[in-house]
Amino acid sequence: MSHFWSESVHKLNPYVPGEQPKQQNLTKLNTNENPYGPSPKVLDILHHEAGNDLRLYPDPNCDELKSCIAEYYNINNDQVFVGNGSDEVLAHTFQGLLKHNKPLLFPDITYSFYPVYCGLYDIHHQTIPLNAEFELNIADYNQPNGGIIFPNPNAPTGVGLSLQKVEALLKQNTDSVVVIDEAYIDFGGESAVALINRYPNLLVIQTLSKSRSLAGLRVGFAMGHPDLISGLERVKNSFNSYPLGRLAIKGGVAAIQDDEYFDTTRNKIINTRTLLSQNLATLGFEILPSQANFIFVKHPGYDALTLSQELRKESIIVRHFNHSRINQYLRISIGSEPECAQLRDVLQSIVG
Ligand SMILES: *Cc1c(COP(=O)(O)O)cnc(C)c1O
Repeated sequence: MSHFWSESVHKLNPYVPGEQPKQQNLTKLNTNENPYGPSPKVLDILHHEAGNDLRLYPDPNCDELKSCIAEYYNINNDQVFVGNGSDEVLAHTFQGLLKHNKPLLFPDITYSFYPVYCGLYDIHHQTIPLNAEFELNIADYNQPNGGIIFPNPNAPTGVGLSLQKVEALLKQNTDSVVVIDEAYIDFGGESAVALINRYPNLLVIQTLSKSRSLAGLRVGFAMGHPDLISGLERVKNSFNSYPLGRLAIKGGVAAIQDDEYFDTTRNKIINTRTLLSQNLATLGFEILPSQANFIFVKHPGYDALTLSQELRKESIIVRHFNHSRINQYLRISIGSEPECAQLRDVLQSIVG
């Protein structure tokens, strides 16, 4: 606390990211990073770009990256917005599209940054409980609102919502913006990008942090009707003209263009997810069906926080959330096969 702070800063309740330990050789299964590293083509271009041109500002409009995304999804450039990680895209979306007189709706169990942005931008919100299976019931969202946002697949549960249900929600909710945060969509979900031409109130947000293994480069983007995009551009150009550096723009383009590497690595992660789920089920864990690069698990005989502490003693970090409805669960990121085998062995020695 400091009396130098603006009054609003006293009231903030900042997001707490998963631990990024300084200590090396930990098995890090706590922040949903990709175990395989970026495409070699991305690394090549970054070496090439790390030169004298860094004295120059980047393109404030990131046209090259927008064109690349537009081409990939077969949409127009004016349907694409890019930002410094999807967290920044989300922040501009909350401020620019989701602050209205009626409450913003999102699930009770969801990405814990959403209530933080509501606090930052003073947005009135209401949480809607997921059902007992942690599924989102679209009928619960059929009420007056100033916007709707949720991740698909959801975080931290990994549970997905079918494209058919996303479309039913859009049919039922035409007067406010519906934001689908598709941070994990490439690991088995169905993207709603295909719907943006038919629903002018739909905004789809994606990131290169997870399936493209570029969490450290900070590239996120949104796709939707040009009116939504130009609203986001107004906010962005009132905040930071150059959110993406020259390296982020070039690296992002190279990542999106390397389909082969993308397919190989995401398929490996999906296969490892299946294997790890089977192995943990054998040990008595209950595992929610996951379409993401993590699984959400609990063991009826062991306290989740205690389990996470036991794993930590064996140099494995997983994520535990201190929220009453999910405090018996652990969120485990899908690592490489050897990392997941190590996790299985350690869990076996604890619960086996
Ligand atoms: C990881 C994550 C993000 C943020 O991704 P960045 O692009 O790295 O900022 C956004 N939404 C959800 C649900 C996430 O899990």
